[in-house]
Amino acid sequence: CGIVGYAGRPEAAAAIGHSALDVVMEGLRRLEYRGYDSAGVAVLTGNGVESRKKSGKLANLVAELEAAPLPVATTGIGHTRWATHGGPTDGNAHPHLADNDRLAVIHNGIIENFAELKAELLAGGAVFRSETDTEVAAALLGRIYASEGGQDLARSMQLACQRLEGAFTLLAVHADSPDTVVAARRNSPLVVGLGDGENFLGSDVSGFIDFTRRAVELGQDQIVTITPEAVTITDFHGQPAEGTEFEVNWDA
Ligand code: GLU
Repeated sequence: CGIVGYAGRPEAAAAIGHSALDVVMEGLRRLEYRGYDSAGVAVLTGNGVESRKKSGKLANLVAELEAAPLPVATTGIGHTRWATHGGPTDGNAHPHLADNDRLAVIHNGIIENFAELKAELLAGGAVFRSETDTEVAAALLGRIYASEGGQDLARSMQLACQRLEGAFTLLAVHADSPDTVVAARRNSPLVVGLGDGENFLGSDVSGFIDFTRRAVELGQDQIVTITPEAVTITDFHGQPAEGTEFEVNWDA
């Protein structure tokens, strides 16, 4: 129900004094008002993707992160879930992993054609660990990324979105692109936050309001890729697109 993404330069993180996990957890706290039943995070480390997720309140995730700390990282994603497909369990919480656990995906919304896609992916040998529609989107993206030669996560996200029906905001990180978060939006909210040596994604501006007030509104059916230095927007077919920059002027 809430989504946060972050990509920052290591020097920026040191200078500013926050890690990807700090940003993501703060964003999730700000988004708690939307209601949720589970929460989870993933960060990119030298060893690839690492994630933690827990049903219940954010406090449960915080306890999990204390019991099993994540390494300090400069790229991360975070999610609060309002279950629609599969009960509110630890296993159904996001992120969902694919491509040999090198890809992590979080999702707000509903993938309407997940049953048909799941059958196709199962026939191709995919293994599922949850009952969610989201894991189907993760597996589809992983399969496309691998079949494209593992070259370009944003391009693979475009191809995946061409096959997805419904309303969704999707965020993906891959071990191959340790400074990048790729996101997609169809009939579901997503806003970009612009920083200095760092960029942000949020399901609304609350997701990054503690860190920047410069935001970019996206259109529907768009893909956005953030790195510490750049924000790139296209449509689902790779055609360049523009967002609309605005200043968040309410008091947090
Ligand atoms: N449909 C997804 C699920 O049930 C995402 C729900 C949400 O928007 O949080 O896991």
